[in-house]
Amino acid sequence: MTIQEKVPLAPLTTLQVGGDARYFAELKREDELQEAVKFAKSRELPLFVLGGGSNLVIADSGWPGLVLKIAIGGITTPNANTNDAPGNAVLFSVGAGVNWDDFVAQAVVQNCAGVECLSGIPGSVGGTPVQNVGAYGQEVSDTIESVRALDLKQDRIVVLPKPACGFRYRSSIFNSTERGRYIILRVNYRLKRGGPPSLKYADLQNHFAALLVGKKLPSLAETRDAVREIRRSKGMLIVPGDDDCRSAGSFFKNPVLSDEQFKALATRASAQELVLPSYPALDAQHKVSAAWLVEHSGFSKGYVAGAAGISHKHALALINRGDAKASDIVELKEKIQHGVQEAWGILLDPEPVFVGF
Ligand SMILES: Cc1cc2nc3c(=O)[nH]c(=O)nc-3n(C[C@H](O)[C@H](O)[C@H](O)COP(=O)(O)OP(=O)(O)OC[C@H]3O[C@@H](n4cnc5c(N)ncnc54)[C@H](O)[C@@H]3O)c2cc1C
Repeated sequence: MTIQEKVPLAPLTTLQVGGDARYFAELKREDELQEAVKFAKSRELPLFVLGGGSNLVIADSGWPGLVLKIAIGGITTPNANTNDAPGNAVLFSVGAGVNWDDFVAQAVVQNCAGVECLSGIPGSVGGTPVQNVGAYGQEVSDTIESVRALDLKQDRIVVLPKPACGFRYRSSIFNSTERGRYIILRVNYRLKRGGPPSLKYADLQNHFAALLVGKKLPSLAETRDAVREIRRSKGMLIVPGDDDCRSAGSFFKNPVLSDEQFKALATRASAQELVLPSYPALDAQHKVSAAWLVEHSGFSKGYVAGAAGISHKHALALINRGDAKASDIVELKEKIQHGVQEAWGILLDPEPVFVGF
């Protein structure tokens, strides 16, 4: 295990802003990780765990302690059998450092359903339980069986079964009640061999309209390709050279409102002769489109605020237009939050993790 000093963090993130890590170590094995944690404890250094860096805003001052980049690999299928009957559950045990989309690709190649709609999401496998990653009608909590983690409080490795992870919309114990306590080492997913693709979202149903009319379902591979294509059109797929994806993905969560708040919002909208967008998947929980709120508060796609801005393809993606600092991104975030609150009385909650602020 090598511990480096003064390592720039911006290139290790998709938003590409922020300063240096005072100390930095990349860990491929669990024992190396435990050694690095000892190093930090002995020097009383604060720890930050880095995955693929796709959900982060790193402060311009960087991180004053040790950054642990998790690079634990390996995808195994302990109970898989080539004679598996369709519909059988297949358990995938995946190292936290594996690239998420590589795992999805492998699951699809093995004809296992459950994560196909999560194709194209950047970042590491270890990052997915943290905010219960979700897209196009699937969330990782639908398929996570358990999470293997180093418990820094008890100083031992534990296996947390799904109910212990406290999954909710973009939330788990890892980013709420137990933030900073666990370092995720492996995630175990239960997928379904030969299962049908999930086509809950209108975008996907429209894409496959012709097939669906004939009562045919697309394959998992076709669903994966469609999701990646739709994501690309929205700047939500990392495509080298596309400035619109120098982002941290969606910068704000869709607000979940009470009955009362929802009615008040609908009344405000109708007073302006506007109709709130309605999606069955959102309506059930009074979840309102944050993108709609942003766009109807004076911030359109392609909005420019100095070196920061909004993607030309997605109103929720704040982008680094080239040489932005973290402070530029934070300034724009605050401007948008203020604008939405003024217009609609709703405070948008940011989705990325702010590091070193
Ligand atoms: C273009 C783009 C599109 C995106 N689309 C989506 C989307 O559709 N849906 C969605 O939910 N998200 C989306 N995201 C956000 C992001 O990709 C996910 O949240 C992803 O799971 C973050 O994983 P990561 O490995 O990059 O984590 P990082 O960004 O490195 O870290 C995020 C948080 O997780 C913690 N963490 C990471 N790894 C570990 C570990 N091994 N143990 C403990 N804690 C850890 C970090 O400490 C930090 O708090 C998108 C981002 C981008 C840039």
